[in-house]
Amino acid sequence: MNLDRFPRYPLTFGPTPIHPLKRLSEHLGGKVQLYAKREDCNSGLAFGGNKTRKLEYLVPDALEQGADTLVSIGGIQSNQTRQVAAVAAHLGMKCVLVQENWVNYWDAVYDRVGNIQMSRMMGADVRLVADGFDIGIRPSWEDAMQSVRDAGGKPYPIPAGCSEHPLGGLGFVGFAEEVRAQEAQLGFKFDYIVVCSVTGSTQAGMVVGFAADGRADCVIGIDASAKPAQTRAQILRIARHTAELVDLGRDIAEKDVVLDTRYGGPEYGLPSEGTLEAIRLCARLEGVMTDPVYEGKSMHGMIDMVRRGEFPEGSRVLYAHLGGAPALNAYSFLFKDG
Ligand code: PLP
Repeated sequence: MNLDRFPRYPLTFGPTPIHPLKRLSEHLGGKVQLYAKREDCNSGLAFGGNKTRKLEYLVPDALEQGADTLVSIGGIQSNQTRQVAAVAAHLGMKCVLVQENWVNYWDAVYDRVGNIQMSRMMGADVRLVADGFDIGIRPSWEDAMQSVRDAGGKPYPIPAGCSEHPLGGLGFVGFAEEVRAQEAQLGFKFDYIVVCSVTGSTQAGMVVGFAADGRADCVIGIDASAKPAQTRAQILRIARHTAELVDLGRDIAEKDVVLDTRYGGPEYGLPSEGTLEAIRLCARLEGVMTDPVYEGKSMHGMIDMVRRGEFPEGSRVLYAHLGGAPALNAYSFLFKDG
């Protein structure tokens, strides 16, 4: 496998820490040891998150092309667009963000606080659009690209979650390499890696990275899109493409992509009772914050699988914490009583 031939522009602090979730593991019976790898605090750029790791491989291409404006898309409380805005500010580039109406939720300040607030504060041109949830390429985004060209600028397109970008899977191939190096230091290997999936390139990169030592299907994706067929197809497609890019030397098969569909409901962006219970449990036992859109769903999945005995006794499970806490402000009503 050859990841090193792709230039990487450093935007993160370096390898993200791994630590045990001791009290949560004990609370759940102590038969499975849970750990977290903290992508949620990977950078000093507006709180970072999983997109910052992906963007390290997109930025050299943007600079090479002489682009002056990063253009991206997401929901109103998108973490992706906040991270793109931060990277644009850091590089001295302009930023146009299309923020669509992906979530049926109306906290009074939903479009004012959290991620979108920070994107505005960092100088991004934030454009609210009424379209609903879709992880594919959108007309509103093509329009934004054209508007930059019409104004004499040179746009660089960064699709939702960086996922449809040809280099979007590379960052999380690097995550797997990093885990391997950390495992060598820790003196043990993780049996499972739990990750939240929506647009797919996070899990796709991990699948490729862990395929290198035969662990592709140890990556347990927890769907948070509530449209799992589309997410699964996207993970598989991105993984296959990424495997070719890095010369993995073997094909990615259907069975390499494990996507658990039990925890994504009721719909994208809205938590179930189980999501909320998992968020509170993890916050109260560990002081670790997860959000109702993404990480609360994968935390719910991990906790529920431990409770059901789905991980064999003695397993070590690594929870990839991908960020998302900045959106919590937009869901304040849900937590008004704690
Ligand atoms: N977790 C957080 C906090 C995110 O912002 C995202 C973005 O969509 C995900 C998980 C899912 O990652 P991906 O879109 O690469 O599947």
